[in-house]
Amino acid sequence: MSLHIPFDNSFARLPAGFYAAQKPHPVKAPRLVAWNGALAALLGLPEVAEAEFAGVFAGNLVPEGAEPLAQLYSGHQFGQYNPQLGDGRAILLGEVVGTDGVRRDIQLKGAGRTPFSRGGDGRAWLGPVLREYVVSEAMHALGIPTTRALAAVETGEEVWRESVLPGAVLTRVARSHLRVGTFQVFAARRDVGSLKRLTEFAIARHYPGAEGPMGLLAAVRDAQAELIAAWLSVGFIHGVMNTDNSSISGETIDYGPCAFLDVYHPETVFSSIDRGGRYAYANQPDIAVWNLAQLATALIQQYEDPQTVVEEASEIVHAMPGMIHRAWLRRFAAKIGIAEAQEADAGLVSDLLVRMAENQADFTNTFRALAEGTARDQFTDPAAYDAWAEGWRARIAGEADAVGLIRRSNPAVIPRNHRIEEMIAAAVEGDYAPFHRLNAVLARPYDDPPEAADLRRAPLPEEVVPATFC
Ligand code: AMP
Ligand code: MG
Ligand code: MG
Repeated sequence: MSLHIPFDNSFARLPAGFYAAQKPHPVKAPRLVAWNGALAALLGLPEVAEAEFAGVFAGNLVPEGAEPLAQLYSGHQFGQYNPQLGDGRAILLGEVVGTDGVRRDIQLKGAGRTPFSRGGDGRAWLGPVLREYVVSEAMHALGIPTTRALAAVETGEEVWRESVLPGAVLTRVARSHLRVGTFQVFAARRDVGSLKRLTEFAIARHYPGAEGPMGLLAAVRDAQAELIAAWLSVGFIHGVMNTDNSSISGETIDYGPCAFLDVYHPETVFSSIDRGGRYAYANQPDIAVWNLAQLATALIQQYEDPQTVVEEASEIVHAMPGMIHRAWLRRFAAKIGIAEAQEADAGLVSDLLVRMAENQADFTNTFRALAEGTARDQFTDPAAYDAWAEGWRARIAGEADAVGLIRRSNPAVIPRNHRIEEMIAAAVEGDYAPFHRLNAVLARPYDDPPEAADLRRAPLPEEVVPATFC
Protein backbone atom coordinates (compact mmCIF):
# COMPACT_ATOMS: atom_id res chain seq x y z
CA MET A 1 0.00 0.00 0.00
CA SER A 2 1.44 3.39 -0.87
CA LEU A 3 1.15 6.45 1.30
CA HIS A 4 -1.91 8.60 0.90
CA ILE A 5 -2.43 11.10 3.72
CA PRO A 6 -5.97 12.53 3.73
CA PHE A 7 -4.96 16.09 4.67
CA ASP A 8 -7.52 18.72 5.61
CA ASN A 9 -5.56 21.76 6.74
CA SER A 10 -7.48 24.27 8.83
CA PHE A 11 -4.51 26.16 10.33
CA ALA A 12 -3.08 26.88 6.88
CA ARG A 13 -6.35 28.65 6.05
CA LEU A 14 -5.72 31.23 8.79
CA PRO A 15 -4.19 34.57 7.69
CA ALA A 16 -0.58 34.55 6.52
CA GLY A 17 0.63 36.33 9.68
CA PHE A 18 0.00 33.20 11.74
CA TYR A 19 2.85 31.25 10.17
CA ALA A 20 5.62 31.12 7.61
CA ALA A 21 5.23 28.73 4.68
CA GLN A 22 8.26 26.49 4.94
CA LYS A 23 9.15 23.21 3.28
CA PRO A 24 11.18 20.69 5.25
CA HIS A 25 14.83 20.56 4.21
CA PRO A 26 15.82 17.22 2.61
CA VAL A 27 18.33 15.03 4.40
CA LYS A 28 21.10 12.83 3.06
CA ALA A 29 20.07 9.24 3.80
CA PRO A 30 16.71 8.82 5.50
CA ARG A 31 16.10 5.54 7.28
CA LEU A 32 12.82 4.80 9.04
CA VAL A 33 13.65 3.42 12.49
CA ALA A 34 10.21 3.51 14.13
CA TRP A 35 6.65 3.38 12.86
CA ASN A 36 3.60 3.48 15.11
CA GLY A 37 1.15 1.19 13.31
CA ALA A 38 -1.67 1.64 15.84
CA LEU A 39 -1.53 5.43 15.62
CA ALA A 40 -1.22 5.23 11.83
CA ALA A 41 -4.45 3.22 11.69
CA LEU A 42 -6.20 5.79 13.89
CA LEU A 43 -5.11 8.53 11.47
CA GLY A 44 -6.31 6.56 8.45
CA LEU A 45 -2.77 5.74 7.24
CA PRO A 46 -1.39 2.30 6.36
CA GLU A 47 -0.46 0.29 9.44
CA VAL A 48 2.64 -1.15 7.85
CA ALA A 49 5.31 1.23 6.64
CA GLU A 50 6.84 0.99 3.16
CA ALA A 51 10.29 2.11 2.03
CA GLU A 52 8.97 5.42 0.67
CA PHE A 53 7.75 6.42 4.14
CA ALA A 54 11.32 7.20 5.22
CA GLY A 55 11.51 9.95 2.62
CA VAL A 56 8.15 11.40 3.63
CA PHE A 57 8.85 11.42 7.36
CA ALA A 58 12.35 12.78 6.87
CA GLY A 59 10.91 15.69 4.90
CA ASN A 60 12.51 14.70 1.57
CA LEU A 61 9.16 14.09 -0.12
CA VAL A 62 6.33 16.50 0.62
CA PRO A 63 3.18 14.40 0.32
CA GLU A 64 0.24 15.51 -1.77
CA GLY A 65 -2.14 17.73 0.18
CA ALA A 66 0.47 18.86 2.70
CA GLU A 67 0.87 22.63 3.21
CA PRO A 68 4.11 22.75 5.18
CA LEU A 69 4.52 25.69 7.53
CA ALA A 70 6.22 26.91 10.70
CA GLN A 71 3.88 28.39 13.31
CA LEU A 72 4.44 31.76 14.98
CA TYR A 73 4.33 32.03 18.75
CA SER A 74 6.09 33.76 21.62
CA GLY A 75 6.23 32.90 25.29
CA HIS A 76 7.65 33.23 28.75
CA GLN A 77 10.79 31.15 29.13
CA PHE A 78 11.63 30.63 32.81
CA GLY A 79 9.45 33.63 33.58
CA GLN A 80 11.03 36.00 31.03
CA TYR A 81 8.95 37.11 28.06
CA ASN A 82 10.52 36.35 24.70
CA PRO A 83 8.59 38.28 22.04
CA GLN A 84 9.31 35.83 19.24
CA LEU A 85 9.89 32.12 19.36
CA GLY A 86 7.93 30.11 16.78
CA ASP A 87 8.67 26.72 15.24
CA GLY A 88 12.44 26.86 14.86
CA ARG A 89 12.84 23.25 13.87
CA ALA A 90 9.33 21.88 13.59
CA ILE A 91 7.29 21.95 10.40
CA LEU A 92 3.57 21.29 10.33
CA LEU A 93 2.74 19.16 7.28
CA GLY A 94 -0.99 19.45 7.79
CA GLU A 95 -3.98 17.99 9.61
CA VAL A 96 -5.99 14.82 9.29
CA VAL A 97 -9.30 13.81 10.81
CA GLY A 98 -8.83 10.35 12.30
CA THR A 99 -11.17 7.37 12.28
CA ASP A 100 -12.27 8.58 15.75
CA GLY A 101 -13.38 11.90 14.25
CA VAL A 102 -10.61 13.85 15.99
CA ARG A 103 -8.59 16.35 13.97
CA ARG A 104 -4.85 16.13 14.53
CA ASP A 105 -1.68 17.88 13.35
CA ILE A 106 1.09 15.92 11.69
CA GLN A 107 4.35 17.70 12.37
CA LEU A 108 7.99 16.95 11.60
CA LYS A 109 10.32 17.88 14.44
CA GLY A 110 13.93 18.39 13.41
CA ALA A 111 13.12 19.13 9.75
CA GLY A 112 15.58 21.98 9.28
CA ARG A 113 15.73 25.73 9.67
CA THR A 114 12.72 28.03 9.47
CA PRO A 115 12.35 31.83 9.69
CA PHE A 116 11.99 31.28 13.47
CA SER A 117 15.20 29.32 13.99
CA ARG A 118 17.21 32.26 15.34
CA GLY A 119 20.67 30.80 16.05
CA GLY A 120 19.54 27.15 15.93
CA ASP A 121 20.29 24.55 13.27
CA GLY A 122 16.68 23.40 12.95
CA ARG A 123 17.71 19.85 13.63
CA ALA A 124 17.31 17.22 16.34
CA TRP A 125 19.59 14.40 17.30
CA LEU A 126 18.55 10.82 17.71
CA GLY A 127 18.56 10.75 21.54
CA PRO A 128 15.79 13.30 22.21
CA VAL A 129 13.80 11.97 19.24
CA LEU A 130 13.74 8.46 20.69
CA ARG A 131 13.14 9.79 24.21
CA GLU A 132 10.10 11.74 23.01
CA TYR A 133 8.88 8.72 21.05
CA VAL A 134 9.06 6.38 24.05
CA VAL A 135 7.91 8.79 26.75
CA SER A 136 5.01 10.33 24.81
CA GLU A 137 3.69 6.90 23.85
CA ALA A 138 4.12 5.75 27.46
CA MET A 139 2.11 8.76 28.64
CA HIS A 140 -0.63 7.84 26.20
CA ALA A 141 -0.68 4.27 27.50
CA LEU A 142 -0.93 5.68 31.05
CA GLY A 143 -4.10 7.46 29.95
CA ILE A 144 -2.58 10.95 30.12
CA PRO A 145 -3.37 13.45 27.34
CA THR A 146 -0.28 13.89 25.21
CA THR A 147 1.12 14.52 21.79
CA ARG A 148 2.04 11.23 20.17
CA ALA A 149 4.79 9.75 18.03
CA LEU A 150 4.02 8.40 14.58
CA ALA A 151 7.50 7.84 13.19
CA ALA A 152 11.20 8.34 13.76
CA VAL A 153 13.70 8.62 10.94
CA GLU A 154 17.48 8.69 11.09
CA THR A 155 18.70 11.34 8.67
CA GLY A 156 22.14 9.96 7.89
CA GLU A 157 23.47 13.41 8.76
CA GLU A 158 25.48 14.65 11.70
CA VAL A 159 24.20 17.12 14.26
CA TRP A 160 26.62 19.20 16.31
CA ARG A 161 25.78 19.55 19.98
CA GLU A 162 28.42 19.07 22.72
CA SER A 163 29.72 16.38 20.38
CA VAL A 164 28.89 15.10 16.90
CA LEU A 165 25.69 13.07 17.03
CA PRO A 166 23.42 11.22 14.60
CA GLY A 167 20.53 13.36 13.31
CA ALA A 168 16.89 12.30 13.37
CA VAL A 169 13.38 13.56 12.68
CA LEU A 170 10.36 12.79 14.84
CA THR A 171 6.85 12.83 13.42
CA ARG A 172 4.71 14.28 16.16
CA VAL A 173 0.93 14.08 16.22
CA ALA A 174 -1.12 16.50 18.33
CA ARG A 175 -4.70 17.67 18.68
CA SER A 176 -3.12 20.97 17.72
CA HIS A 177 0.07 22.88 18.40
CA LEU A 178 -1.74 25.95 19.77
CA ARG A 179 -0.04 27.12 22.95
CA VAL A 180 -0.45 29.90 25.46
CA GLY A 181 2.37 31.56 23.51
CA THR A 182 0.33 31.51 20.29
CA PHE A 183 -2.07 33.95 21.99
CA GLN A 184 0.68 35.92 23.70
CA VAL A 185 2.41 36.90 20.48
CA PHE A 186 -0.68 38.68 19.09
CA ALA A 187 -1.63 40.20 22.45
CA ALA A 188 1.86 41.65 22.87
CA ARG A 189 1.60 43.16 19.40
CA ARG A 190 -1.88 44.54 20.17
CA ASP A 191 -3.06 42.67 17.07
CA VAL A 192 -6.68 42.39 18.22
CA GLY A 193 -7.94 41.06 14.89
CA SER A 194 -5.58 38.09 14.95
CA LEU A 195 -6.28 37.47 18.63
CA LYS A 196 -10.01 37.28 17.93
CA ARG A 197 -9.47 35.03 14.95
CA LEU A 198 -7.23 32.71 16.96
CA THR A 199 -9.75 32.60 19.82
CA GLU A 200 -12.52 31.54 17.43
CA PHE A 201 -10.24 28.95 15.84
CA ALA A 202 -9.25 27.45 19.20
CA ILE A 203 -12.85 27.29 20.41
CA ALA A 204 -14.08 25.64 17.21
CA ARG A 205 -11.24 23.14 17.22
CA HIS A 206 -11.03 22.21 20.90
CA TYR A 207 -13.94 23.50 22.94
CA PRO A 208 -16.96 23.98 20.67
CA GLY A 209 -19.23 24.52 23.70
CA ALA A 210 -17.14 27.37 25.12
CA GLU A 211 -18.56 30.87 24.97
CA GLY A 212 -16.16 33.63 24.04
CA PRO A 213 -12.64 34.27 25.29
CA MET A 214 -13.57 33.71 28.96
CA GLY A 215 -15.26 30.43 28.06
CA LEU A 216 -12.06 29.37 26.32
CA LEU A 217 -10.00 30.41 29.36
CA ALA A 218 -12.15 28.29 31.66
CA ALA A 219 -12.00 25.30 29.30
CA VAL A 220 -8.20 25.46 29.08
CA ARG A 221 -8.06 25.75 32.86
CA ASP A 222 -10.18 22.62 33.30
CA ALA A 223 -8.03 20.62 30.87
CA GLN A 224 -4.74 21.85 32.33
CA ALA A 225 -5.86 21.22 35.91
CA GLU A 226 -6.60 17.58 35.09
CA LEU A 227 -3.35 17.27 33.16
CA ILE A 228 -1.15 18.56 35.98
CA ALA A 229 -2.83 16.26 38.50
CA ALA A 230 -2.27 13.35 36.13
CA TRP A 231 1.44 14.23 35.83
CA LEU A 232 1.80 14.36 39.60
CA SER A 233 0.04 11.01 39.97
CA VAL A 234 2.67 9.20 37.89
CA GLY A 235 5.68 11.15 39.16
CA PHE A 236 6.21 13.04 35.90
CA ILE A 237 8.31 16.19 35.78
CA HIS A 238 7.85 18.10 32.52
CA GLY A 239 11.02 20.11 32.98
CA VAL A 240 10.27 23.14 30.75
CA MET A 241 6.79 24.45 31.56
CA ASN A 242 7.33 27.65 29.61
CA THR A 243 4.17 29.25 28.24
CA ASP A 244 5.18 28.19 24.73
CA ASN A 245 5.13 24.60 25.96
CA SER A 246 1.70 24.91 27.55
CA SER A 247 -0.89 23.45 25.21
CA ILE A 248 -4.36 24.92 24.64
CA SER A 249 -5.79 21.44 24.06
CA GLY A 250 -4.50 20.29 27.45
CA GLU A 251 -2.05 17.75 26.05
CA THR A 252 1.44 17.18 27.38
CA ILE A 253 3.69 18.79 24.79
CA ASP A 254 7.41 19.27 24.22
CA TYR A 255 9.32 16.40 25.73
CA GLY A 256 12.73 17.95 26.36
CA PRO A 257 14.47 17.28 29.65
CA CYS A 258 11.38 15.61 31.13
CA ALA A 259 11.74 12.68 33.51
CA PHE A 260 9.88 10.45 35.93
CA LEU A 261 10.74 10.35 39.62
CA ASP A 262 12.61 7.35 40.93
CA VAL A 263 12.89 8.14 44.66
CA TYR A 264 10.20 10.56 45.73
CA HIS A 265 11.13 14.06 46.73
CA PRO A 266 8.86 17.03 45.98
CA GLU A 267 11.77 19.32 45.06
CA THR A 268 13.19 16.98 42.44
CA VAL A 269 14.53 18.65 39.28
CA PHE A 270 16.24 16.79 36.45
CA SER A 271 16.56 19.45 33.78
CA SER A 272 20.14 20.68 33.46
CA ILE A 273 18.88 24.15 32.46
CA ASP A 274 16.46 24.55 35.39
CA ARG A 275 19.03 25.81 37.88
CA GLY A 276 16.54 27.61 40.13
CA GLY A 277 14.22 24.63 40.34
CA ARG A 278 11.34 26.66 38.88
CA TYR A 279 9.88 23.53 37.27
CA ALA A 280 10.49 21.10 40.13
CA TYR A 281 7.98 18.25 40.62
CA ALA A 282 5.86 19.94 43.28
CA ASN A 283 5.99 23.41 41.67
CA GLN A 284 4.08 22.22 38.62
CA PRO A 285 0.60 23.17 39.93
CA ASP A 286 1.70 26.75 40.73
CA ILE A 287 3.40 27.07 37.36
CA ALA A 288 0.30 25.84 35.54
CA VAL A 289 -1.71 28.56 37.31
CA TRP A 290 0.94 31.15 36.43
CA ASN A 291 0.77 30.05 32.79
CA LEU A 292 -3.02 30.28 32.80
CA ALA A 293 -2.71 33.82 34.16
CA GLN A 294 -0.56 34.64 31.12
CA LEU A 295 -3.26 33.22 28.85
CA ALA A 296 -5.85 35.35 30.67
CA THR A 297 -3.69 38.44 30.25
CA ALA A 298 -3.42 37.75 26.53
CA LEU A 299 -7.10 36.92 25.98
CA ILE A 300 -8.47 40.06 27.64
CA GLN A 301 -6.61 42.27 25.15
CA GLN A 302 -9.31 41.52 22.59
CA TYR A 303 -11.99 43.33 24.61
CA GLU A 304 -12.57 46.96 23.80
CA ASP A 305 -12.05 47.74 27.49
CA PRO A 306 -10.04 44.88 29.04
CA GLN A 307 -10.79 46.29 32.52
CA THR A 308 -14.38 45.11 32.20
CA VAL A 309 -13.35 41.44 32.18
CA VAL A 310 -10.41 41.53 34.59
CA GLU A 311 -12.55 40.40 37.50
CA GLU A 312 -14.11 37.52 35.57
CA ALA A 313 -10.74 36.43 34.24
CA SER A 314 -9.13 36.47 37.67
CA GLU A 315 -11.98 34.45 39.14
CA ILE A 316 -11.41 31.80 36.47
CA VAL A 317 -7.69 31.71 37.19
CA HIS A 318 -8.11 31.73 40.96
CA ALA A 319 -10.37 28.68 40.82
CA MET A 320 -7.56 26.63 39.30
CA PRO A 321 -5.53 25.73 42.44
CA GLY A 322 -8.64 24.24 44.07
CA MET A 323 -9.40 22.27 40.90
CA ILE A 324 -5.88 20.87 40.73
CA HIS A 325 -6.09 19.95 44.40
CA ARG A 326 -9.37 18.08 43.92
CA ALA A 327 -8.06 16.25 40.86
CA TRP A 328 -4.84 15.45 42.76
CA LEU A 329 -6.81 14.13 45.71
CA ARG A 330 -9.06 11.98 43.52
CA ARG A 331 -6.04 10.41 41.80
CA PHE A 332 -3.89 9.95 44.90
CA ALA A 333 -6.78 8.56 46.92
CA ALA A 334 -7.29 5.98 44.16
CA LYS A 335 -3.56 5.21 44.30
CA ILE A 336 -3.98 4.13 47.93
CA GLY A 337 -7.22 2.23 47.25
CA ILE A 338 -9.90 4.80 48.09
CA ALA A 339 -12.62 5.00 45.44
CA GLU A 340 -14.51 8.03 46.76
CA ALA A 341 -12.06 10.56 48.13
CA GLN A 342 -13.04 12.76 51.06
CA GLU A 343 -11.17 15.99 51.82
CA ALA A 344 -9.89 14.36 55.02
CA ASP A 345 -8.02 11.80 52.86
CA ALA A 346 -5.65 14.55 51.72
CA GLY A 347 -3.89 14.30 55.09
CA LEU A 348 -3.47 10.56 54.75
CA VAL A 349 -1.94 10.94 51.27
CA SER A 350 0.33 13.81 52.30
CA ASP A 351 1.51 11.92 55.36
CA LEU A 352 2.54 9.01 53.15
CA LEU A 353 4.37 11.32 50.74
CA VAL A 354 6.26 13.03 53.57
CA ARG A 355 7.37 9.66 54.93
CA MET A 356 8.36 8.52 51.42
CA ALA A 357 10.52 11.62 50.96
CA GLU A 358 12.18 11.10 54.34
CA ASN A 359 12.86 7.45 53.55
CA GLN A 360 14.04 7.60 49.93
CA ALA A 361 11.12 5.49 48.81
CA ASP A 362 10.75 4.83 45.11
CA PHE A 363 7.61 6.65 43.94
CA THR A 364 6.26 4.10 41.43
CA ASN A 365 7.27 0.96 43.29
CA THR A 366 5.98 2.12 46.68
CA PHE A 367 2.47 2.81 45.44
CA ARG A 368 2.32 -0.36 43.40
CA ALA A 369 3.61 -2.38 46.38
CA LEU A 370 0.61 -1.24 48.44
CA ALA A 371 -1.33 -3.86 46.47
CA GLU A 372 1.35 -6.46 47.09
CA GLY A 373 1.82 -5.94 50.84
CA THR A 374 5.51 -5.12 50.36
CA ALA A 375 5.50 -1.32 50.50
CA ARG A 376 7.37 -1.20 53.82
CA ASP A 377 10.46 -2.63 52.09
CA GLN A 378 10.73 0.63 50.14
CA PHE A 379 11.44 2.67 53.28
CA THR A 380 14.88 3.09 54.84
CA ASP A 381 13.01 2.97 58.14
CA PRO A 382 10.14 0.50 57.64
CA ALA A 383 8.63 1.61 60.97
CA ALA A 384 7.83 4.97 59.32
CA TYR A 385 5.65 3.07 56.87
CA ASP A 386 4.09 0.88 59.57
CA ALA A 387 2.98 3.94 61.53
CA TRP A 388 1.23 5.31 58.44
CA ALA A 389 -0.21 1.97 57.36
CA GLU A 390 -2.19 1.55 60.57
CA GLY A 391 -4.43 4.52 59.77
CA TRP A 392 -4.50 3.57 56.11
CA ARG A 393 -5.77 0.06 56.77
CA ALA A 394 -8.53 1.44 58.95
CA ARG A 395 -9.54 3.87 56.18
CA ILE A 396 -9.70 1.27 53.39
CA ALA A 397 -11.36 -1.42 55.51
CA GLY A 398 -14.74 -0.64 53.96
CA GLU A 399 -13.50 -0.41 50.34
CA ALA A 400 -15.01 -3.00 48.01
CA ASP A 401 -11.86 -3.60 45.92
CA ALA A 402 -8.93 -1.61 47.27
CA VAL A 403 -6.30 -3.96 45.85
CA GLY A 404 -7.82 -3.90 42.36
CA LEU A 405 -8.11 -0.11 42.47
CA ILE A 406 -4.49 0.23 43.57
CA ARG A 407 -3.36 -1.98 40.67
CA ARG A 408 -5.44 0.01 38.18
CA SER A 409 -4.21 3.36 39.56
CA ASN A 410 -0.49 2.62 39.85
CA PRO A 411 1.62 1.61 36.88
CA ALA A 412 4.13 -1.18 37.43
CA VAL A 413 6.39 0.12 34.69
CA ILE A 414 7.27 3.71 33.78
CA PRO A 415 9.97 4.99 31.43
CA ARG A 416 12.75 5.31 33.95
CA ASN A 417 15.61 7.64 33.12
CA HIS A 418 18.34 5.06 33.23
CA ARG A 419 16.42 2.77 30.87
CA ILE A 420 15.86 5.65 28.46
CA GLU A 421 19.55 6.54 28.49
CA GLU A 422 20.50 2.90 28.01
CA MET A 423 18.05 2.62 25.10
CA ILE A 424 19.51 5.75 23.45
CA ALA A 425 23.08 4.51 23.85
CA ALA A 426 22.14 1.22 22.19
CA ALA A 427 20.31 2.93 19.30
CA VAL A 428 23.29 5.17 18.61
CA GLU A 429 25.25 1.93 18.16
CA GLY A 430 22.56 0.68 15.78
CA ASP A 431 20.83 -1.64 18.26
CA TYR A 432 17.12 -0.86 18.38
CA ALA A 433 16.13 -3.89 20.45
CA PRO A 434 15.93 -1.94 23.76
CA PHE A 435 13.83 0.77 22.03
CA HIS A 436 11.31 -1.77 20.72
CA ARG A 437 11.22 -3.63 24.02
CA LEU A 438 10.60 -0.45 26.03
CA ASN A 439 7.75 0.52 23.69
CA ALA A 440 6.18 -2.92 23.93
CA VAL A 441 6.30 -3.12 27.74
CA LEU A 442 5.25 0.52 28.27
CA ALA A 443 2.21 0.00 26.05
CA ARG A 444 0.70 -1.97 28.97
CA PRO A 445 2.08 -0.13 32.02
CA TYR A 446 -0.41 -1.59 34.51
CA ASP A 447 0.48 -5.18 33.62
CA ASP A 448 3.36 -6.67 35.46
CA PRO A 449 4.84 -9.37 33.23
CA PRO A 450 7.64 -11.29 34.98
CA GLU A 451 9.87 -10.96 31.92
CA ALA A 452 9.83 -7.17 32.37
CA ALA A 453 10.89 -7.25 36.05
CA ASP A 454 14.19 -5.56 35.15
CA LEU A 455 12.26 -2.56 33.80
CA ARG A 456 10.36 -2.25 37.09
CA ARG A 457 13.47 -2.19 39.18
CA ALA A 458 14.60 1.18 40.55
CA PRO A 459 18.07 2.27 39.44
CA LEU A 460 21.06 1.11 41.47
CA PRO A 461 23.08 4.02 42.86
CA GLU A 462 25.52 3.79 39.94
CA GLU A 463 22.63 3.74 37.43
CA VAL A 464 20.89 6.91 38.65
CA VAL A 465 20.65 9.61 35.98
CA PRO A 466 20.89 12.87 37.95
CA ALA A 467 20.37 15.31 35.07
CA THR A 468 18.62 15.42 31.71
CA PHE A 469 19.39 17.61 28.72
CA CYS A 470 17.20 19.06 25.96
P1 AMP B 1 11.79 24.53 23.54
O1 AMP B 1 12.67 24.85 24.70
O2 AMP B 1 11.96 23.15 23.00
O3 AMP B 1 10.36 24.80 23.83
O4 AMP B 1 12.21 25.48 22.35
C1 AMP B 1 12.20 26.88 22.47
C2 AMP B 1 12.39 27.54 21.14
O5 AMP B 1 13.65 27.19 20.57
C3 AMP B 1 11.36 27.16 20.09
O6 AMP B 1 11.10 28.31 19.32
C4 AMP B 1 12.07 26.11 19.27
O7 AMP B 1 11.57 26.00 17.97
C5 AMP B 1 13.49 26.65 19.27
N1 AMP B 1 14.49 25.61 19.03
C6 AMP B 1 14.85 24.60 19.86
N2 AMP B 1 15.83 23.86 19.32
C7 AMP B 1 16.12 24.39 18.10
C8 AMP B 1 17.04 24.09 17.06
N3 AMP B 1 17.89 23.06 17.15
N4 AMP B 1 17.04 24.87 15.97
C9 AMP B 1 16.20 25.92 15.87
N5 AMP B 1 15.32 26.27 16.81
C10 AMP B 1 15.27 25.52 17.93
MG1 MG C 1 8.80 24.14 22.81
MG1 MG D 1 11.72 21.31 23.03
